Amino acid sequence: MKTLDIVVPVYNEEDCIEETFKRLCDVKTLLLDKLHVNFLFVNDGSKDSSIDILKKLAFDNQFVKVIDFSRNFGHQIAVTAGLENSNADYVAIIDADLQDPPELIVDMYNKSLEGYDIVYGKRLKRENETAFKKITAFGFYRVLNSLCNLDIPTDTGDFRFITKDVVDVLKRMPEHNRFIRGMVPWVGFKSAPIEFNREERFAGETHYPLKAMLRLAANGIFSFSLKPLKLINWLGLLLLIFSLVSLIKMNLLSATILFVGAVQLFAIGIVGVYLGRIYEEVLKRPLYIVKDKYNM
Ligand code: UDP
Ligand code: MG
Repeated sequence: MKTLDIVVPVYNEEDCIEETFKRLCDVKTLLLDKLHVNFLFVNDGSKDSSIDILKKLAFDNQFVKVIDFSRNFGHQIAVTAGLENSNADYVAIIDADLQDPPELIVDMYNKSLEGYDIVYGKRLKRENETAFKKITAFGFYRVLNSLCNLDIPTDTGDFRFITKDVVDVLKRMPEHNRFIRGMVPWVGFKSAPIEFNREERFAGETHYPLKAMLRLAANGIFSFSLKPLKLINWLGLLLLIFSLVSLIKMNLLSATILFVGAVQLFAIGIVGVYLGRIYEEVLKRPLYIVKDKYNM
């Protein structure tokens, strides 16, 4: 029988894990005669009792595998660890807070049988998320797509179902600044969406405050686009012409000098971002550190 690993990143989800586990068990039952299903929880340095709950689940159930990080490495890295430790024919990636309905994994599997290597969850409605989050998310995916030479599906998180072929390619992508929802379409293969309404969090709070969202957004743009660098060139050219024209008017000239200075600083900043990222990659540090593993 073919195998499915359900990868679940976990960071401070003590109030969600048991319910998530139950719902995932329902999925396992639904797929009983089709797939052999394992759960692969990655505890991303939770500070609450998440790991104790996970250890107990692993102790009671052989199909529950747990990777315990030495500290918090971030959502994208936790998912990566799940993928790297999977050898299954299929992998499903799902959040631990039940915002992504687990039952959809069954639909995703059925869809994949039509010949798709990637089936991703496309969000239709976002229950009880702030207007701000909705607007920024809406804008982000569209800006990203206009900047990148890549068709990143809009309104799509990491909730997806992928085949081993895709996982194997992802395993060969060692970049530190990871933006999985961009990396998966980069890989190629045939993909299809399954639409769903994003639920409210079962319990607890989001770990993606504005700062983390901005970091993820920056990762998406700088990992998949060199356009900001090219933009600087065009800006430089534009300013050159502008300053030549403004030579005629002196007071305009002083304003221009200020403006040019600001733009230069901005440009250096963008170059710095890429430089910093190169530095991070050059260091070749491990992506994450595993403290313990259970049932694996
Ligand atoms: N998460 C993680 N490490 C982190 C932050 C989050 O593993 O540093 C997990 C979290 O437990 C959840 C998923 O990533 O399973 C998505 O996080 P969250 O629900 O907070 O994000 P949101 O849905 O609000 O975007
Ligand atoms: Mg969530």
